[in-house]
Amino acid sequence: MCGIVGYTGNRNAITVLLDGLKALEYRGYDSAGIAYRTCNRIEVVKASGKIVNLEKKLNPNMHSNVGIGHTRWATHGKPNEVNSHPHRMGKFTIVHNGIIENYEVLKKLLVKSGYKFKTETDSEVIAGLLDKLYSEKNDVLKVIVELKKLLIGSYALGIICDDIPDKIYAVRKDSPLIIGVNDDESFIASDVPAILKYTNKYIILNDNEIAEIGRSVNVYNDNLDIVNKEVLTFEGNLEVAEKNGYEHFMLKEIHEQPEVIKNTTAPFLKFGLESLTENMPDFSKYDKIDIIGCGSAYHAGLVGKCLIEKYGNIPVNAFVASEYRYQKIFADEKTLVILISQSGETADTLACLRKVHDMGINTLAIVNVVGSSLAREADKVIYIKAGPEISVATTKAYLAQITILSLMALNIGYNKKLISESKALEIIDSYEKLPNFISEMIDKDYKDIAKSLYDKDNCFYIGRGIDYALSMEGSLKLKEISYIVSCAYAAGELKHGTISLIEDGTNVIAIVTDKNIADKTIGNIKEVKSRGAVISLITTEQIDDNFDVDYKVVMPTLNDFISPMVCAIPLQLISYETAKLRGCDIDKPKNLAKSVTVE
Ligand code: GLU
Repeated sequence: MCGIVGYTGNRNAITVLLDGLKALEYRGYDSAGIAYRTCNRIEVVKASGKIVNLEKKLNPNMHSNVGIGHTRWATHGKPNEVNSHPHRMGKFTIVHNGIIENYEVLKKLLVKSGYKFKTETDSEVIAGLLDKLYSEKNDVLKVIVELKKLLIGSYALGIICDDIPDKIYAVRKDSPLIIGVNDDESFIASDVPAILKYTNKYIILNDNEIAEIGRSVNVYNDNLDIVNKEVLTFEGNLEVAEKNGYEHFMLKEIHEQPEVIKNTTAPFLKFGLESLTENMPDFSKYDKIDIIGCGSAYHAGLVGKCLIEKYGNIPVNAFVASEYRYQKIFADEKTLVILISQSGETADTLACLRKVHDMGINTLAIVNVVGSSLAREADKVIYIKAGPEISVATTKAYLAQITILSLMALNIGYNKKLISESKALEIIDSYEKLPNFISEMIDKDYKDIAKSLYDKDNCFYIGRGIDYALSMEGSLKLKEISYIVSCAYAAGELKHGTISLIEDGTNVIAIVTDKNIADKTIGNIKEVKSRGAVISLITTEQIDDNFDVDYKVVMPTLNDFISPMVCAIPLQLISYETAKLRGCDIDKPKNLAKSVTVE
């Protein structure tokens, strides 16, 4: 999430920091700020919104040789000026990317010691802890070693200490950070583009390493032994750097998914079943759920419907927002309306929220962007923590949405005693392994399927139950980025009309992961195969047998709660590889916008 920069050297740090922050804008942010040393004082300047707002507040004549900067993409606390970074407490000023999961506990400890907090962020505790530890140890490196022992979560940190005039410190865990090096000057940054204007030489800081950055750089391990680091040279241009070496943002975001799932699930899994219940609404007061969304968010709702009905034994309906807002709504105080939107600004979904609010119905928003309209206006909000998504066609946000819905199904089932404690713990455990299963699927090769598809005019997706819900998203992904006309059908529905379109060479992508109804879908596959269809099958090890298909993707056999997230990966990559062969503008498909804020 978002951007960190830091500079120490002879140039004007303020200019370098602003250049760096601008180069990181592609990562998405909602506010920006810098801290710089001048006349032996640390000045902090912050602004909500775009970097130009920050620039306007800066004195153009001000000069500094040391500073840190940040573009924030809020995860805890509103995206306003107060919450934006840097944060300062006592002798320490910090910028932070990531999420501190145990910040509430740490905050309580610091408040007891007399620290006063100004922001709603999780990050501010870091400045407080550093200051408190420093008052005991008086050695910044030792203090950072101690800090690491206290923090749970992900972080990349840029740190300045009032007592050390020309140095910045950096440390990371599960959030990216690099150190730019040049003659007599150094930089820190979340990503290479931030430093490319000044140097293409950089060091990758690894998890748990601590860097002391002055005119030269020292990197230490936890014992404060020096670690020898290789200086790398970045050869590409700015655009290549922004995509972190991936050809498209969509591919980059697909690869980010194992990490995203860790962030999405972390608050719910932290203390096992207790934190699952704590972080979910109290579902016992509801006897019906309506899920509202547009596009992929609607498809996520369909996955949620399958899981919540099956494991929570409560009726769930998924609706397209643009329909729901104008139809008769059967809902009362025992209905929960869940609204899903990546941006939290989708106009139709927002209109549904306002409509049901006026009817006095309880609402829950599942959104990515903190402080967005849906998040503000709903009675309760769950953030999916997918980080900024640049590619117009969603991948990681959809995956995070279905992850939340599957956790919801587990929560309802467990609290209604439909799922035993031991079973629930076993399922919780499987979420910990989910990132690895996702990585395994990302590493598979989908090029052959793409080759069979890229020169066709149309394609069909089929599946039953949850496999049908997944095929709808797979089909949308293909349409969105490759412009192939694609339709998803409930497998049993084909012979009621659509099968007339199947002819020699028609591509059919079949999803069969649900063992209980696998035989039925396999029957439908045979029907289209005998009429000449080219079949690509996505299935599990358990179901995989010798029936005749042209291409096969086999995923591990997993429980119903995590299986949909693993199955979504081949669907994303088949679309991606196909669109690439067709030479499409993958990240910005024609006629589409990332955030649909009009009706
Ligand atoms: N969790 C922090 C916040 O909400 C940092 C967010 C970021 O990575 O920008 O302020």
